[in-house]
Amino acid sequence: MIYADNAATTKPSRAALDAMIPCLEGQYGNPSSLYTLGQQAREALEDARARIAKNLNATPREITFTSGGSEADNQALRSAAAIGARKGKKHIISTKFEHHAILHTLQALEKEGFTVTLLDVHTNGIVTAAEVETAITPETCLVTVMYANNEIGTIQPVAEIGAVCHRHGVLFHTDAVQAAGHLPIDVQAQNIDLLSLSAHKFHGPKGVGVLYAKKTIPLTNLIYGGAQERGKRAGTENLPAVLGMAAALDDACAHLAANTATVTLLRDTLIAGLSAIPHGELNGDATHRLPGNVSFCFEGIEGESLLLLLDQKGICASSGSACTSGSLDPSHVLLAIGRPHEVAHGSLRLTLCEENTPREVEEIIESVRQVVSYLRGMSPVWRDLQEGRKNYVIQ
Ligand SMILES: *Cc1c(COP(=O)(O)O)cnc(C)c1O
Repeated sequence: MIYADNAATTKPSRAALDAMIPCLEGQYGNPSSLYTLGQQAREALEDARARIAKNLNATPREITFTSGGSEADNQALRSAAAIGARKGKKHIISTKFEHHAILHTLQALEKEGFTVTLLDVHTNGIVTAAEVETAITPETCLVTVMYANNEIGTIQPVAEIGAVCHRHGVLFHTDAVQAAGHLPIDVQAQNIDLLSLSAHKFHGPKGVGVLYAKKTIPLTNLIYGGAQERGKRAGTENLPAVLGMAAALDDACAHLAANTATVTLLRDTLIAGLSAIPHGELNGDATHRLPGNVSFCFEGIEGESLLLLLDQKGICASSGSACTSGSLDPSHVLLAIGRPHEVAHGSLRLTLCEENTPREVEEIIESVRQVVSYLRGMSPVWRDLQEGRKNYVIQ
């Protein structure tokens, strides 16, 4: 099997498993208990918090553990919205190609009286700081723009966007779920007030994440109960997962440069190989993209069929995001960068990590070539294109 769907989830690393297993076996104490077993759990929890903070250039008290990226996104937006509402500022700026954890929270906030501006994304999959600045009004309380897109991998100028926000007294949140462990993060240098990350996107366990919030920003609870996480997120801490996350992030940050070099090379080989397929095109900017992300549209085929046939060849890939596969709507991300519906349907996302090999990349290229030409051979749309009854969108 070739695993090439690292944007959907990653294989837990040895470091993550080694950190989790003792905690699932002997060291199962509750961090709120007063006896030694509990206090050892508390120490491990706070040590993990400090290490995660250090990797982001934050302080431990600015780190809140959540059940993952979705919860962190929800809590970030609701907290900033509550602060805005108290000042009578109820306008939020975001983009059309955010993750649904952002877009659906914004829809909920609209029903509660907030106004939301969703910025267009350029065909290269990048939003500029100048466009964010133009959209800011005296009512704006929050700008939320993702660090790197989960489908097309494009990287946004977060430091510049953050600087614009701060010039106008607006809070800046970034969904850094795809970036954490893969791109450098420095919340201070990059002018970030709120940031979300999720462990299972950088070789940690599922169901655990972080909301970073600058210490001056009060959080709004989504979950009420005990006093865990300074009263801002009730529930007994998921200690094994938190320890796995801290170990995975330490590991990813320590090897960031080496992993980036390895994965970028694999990515660019894969992009070059797939670019040779006619009437197909890379989605998003070729250089300002995540080291492991390869996203293509191929005319005249359905992404779903492509995935099923690749699966038969032992290749795990994706079209659009994992959350929307299963629905027949084309990806909102591909539509946002201007792909027409019929082209967006023919999308393929391959996301690599440092464990993939050049040999696997060659095998993927060969398999995609075969499958695309097989599917085109059966496609009435492809016949129309070939026989001139329809025009190609991608030359
Ligand atoms: C995966 C992902 C999320 C959701 O994270 P979960 O931990 O799965 O809830 C949010 N945003 C982006 C960009 C993602 O890729």
